[in-house]
Amino acid sequence: MPEAGVEPTRVSPVCSSEMKLDVLPTSEKDPWYAQGLRFTCTQCGNCCTGGPGFVWISLEEIARVADHLRITPEQTIERYCRKIGDRYSLLESRNARGEHDCIFLKEELSDRPFGDKRVTQSKRTCAVYPVRPLQCRTWPFWDSNLSSSEIWEMSAKRCHGMNRGRQFSKDEMEAIRDAAEWPENPPTSDQAD
Ligand code: SF4
Ligand code: SF4
Repeated sequence: MPEAGVEPTRVSPVCSSEMKLDVLPTSEKDPWYAQGLRFTCTQCGNCCTGGPGFVWISLEEIARVADHLRITPEQTIERYCRKIGDRYSLLESRNARGEHDCIFLKEELSDRPFGDKRVTQSKRTCAVYPVRPLQCRTWPFWDSNLSSSEIWEMSAKRCHGMNRGRQFSKDEMEAIRDAAEWPENPPTSDQAD
């Protein structure tokens, strides 16, 4: 039953050739990102710091991190996780700028040639990158970022890898967004030099 004041959906008279809706069902409309979006991580580390937050990690993911670090899952929980309700999130530490870094965010300094000089560059990388949790593996193709171009652009101001590098098709982005399982080597793993 239509709501008061709302026109019921118009359907043409009962004739098989004209049995069509005058609007596409929402699910069949192309989303705003239908032509694809670009992303390649530049390793700026911005997504792993900032205000306080949560990086959810499942028991299965804790076991993978533990294997990677060659310690036990219990030690991984003790050293790197906090319990929130019946879930675990990674610990955070405050950096010199007062931001909340994920416990696995590491700053690396490298010396690179620049013309006839050498410059020191800093990169912030993930100490457990090959086994980072699903939440990190699926960034930036989260439901929230894909919900509108405005939100995508707002996130891109902080994530320097958005709108540059590898092109992702709509299907690829949606597969990453909807991933319930831990993809071994998700295409979001590519990093800029
Ligand atoms: S686990 Fe790694 S990728 Fe995820 S928030 Fe922490 S440092 Fe960043
Ligand atoms: S480019 Fe984006 S995904 Fe990569 S570290 Fe920076 S904020 Fe995170």
